[in-house]
Amino acid sequence: MIPTSFEFHRPDTLADAVALLSRHGDGARALAGGHSLIPMMKMRMADVQHLVDLQDIADLKGISIKGDTVTIGAMTTQHELIADAALAKAAPIIREASLQIADPQVRYVGTIGGNIANGDPGNDMPGLMQCLDATYTLVGPDGSREVAARDFYEAAYFTARADDEILTSVSFAAPKGGSAYEKLKRKIGDYATAAAAVLIEKDGGTCTAASIAMTNLSDTPVWCEDAVAALAGSKLDGAAIDAAVAAMQGAIDPQEDNRGPVDYKKHVAGAVLRRAIASAASRA
Ligand code: FAD
Repeated sequence: MIPTSFEFHRPDTLADAVALLSRHGDGARALAGGHSLIPMMKMRMADVQHLVDLQDIADLKGISIKGDTVTIGAMTTQHELIADAALAKAAPIIREASLQIADPQVRYVGTIGGNIANGDPGNDMPGLMQCLDATYTLVGPDGSREVAARDFYEAAYFTARADDEILTSVSFAAPKGGSAYEKLKRKIGDYATAAAAVLIEKDGGTCTAASIAMTNLSDTPVWCEDAVAALAGSKLDGAAIDAAVAAMQGAIDPQEDNRGPVDYKKHVAGAVLRRAIASAASRA
């Protein structure tokens, strides 16, 4: 199918982009890499009269690491995340997760901002950002504000972002311990059946801090506070990991679809979480 007709805008400043979104209300949408939005328009699931392309806004691009704070511009592509050596050193989980998104063709144009702002439960970055306790910066007609990734997702395709706000960047503290992103998908290029992002800090054999978030197992990403509590202070032994998996399985709410029935998805969620905990612990 082809989309309905729309007007195309390519502003070169953030202020102009915000003004266009404000002027055209919910008939306008920001365009980043277009790898989620354009298919939605073609399937007529998104009715867009004004497309505001963010491609020419230089302020939205780039990766900066100052001290232990990592800031990534919204228009940074998934390929650029993978290629950045300093980012791979500061936060290796970003590269590990990005390499599991779609395929190189998609990653050359798909952006971190589009992946985060989209609100699709299948997107990998939202859960990863919750695991990292990232902060999103949004700019709208009334100025700039920050929203925690853990507060951003309200339901599938519904987020805390207003229609006339643009996500400009994401920032987070570089993780201190070990990290891992584990994803099970049916084939290359598929979204997750289940994925787990895990951070673990250890002192000797004891887990001193952890973070766990799951992807595509509910209509929003799931940051699993109770699973974290099961690991914190433990020796990361079998009983602690079993408790963390059980707590995670109590927090998710998968639905049956072409990736499998509910029980299967819960089982896969447990398997990817166990793998991610083992990898993160060994790297810590
Ligand atoms: P767009 O499609 O341009 O935009 C997506 C949405 O976000 C739109 O509603 C748009 O208005 C809004 N938006 C974009 N940028 C901003 C901004 N800065 N501020 C405010 N709103 C904004 N993703 C995964 O995570 N995992 C996968 O396994 C995966 N597999 C894929 C397989 C295929 C075959 C394809 C085509 C896509 C796949 N994707 C996957 C999605 C891909 O990563 C998308 O590129 C990404 O989700 C959206 O990024 P984008 O830059 O293309 O955004």
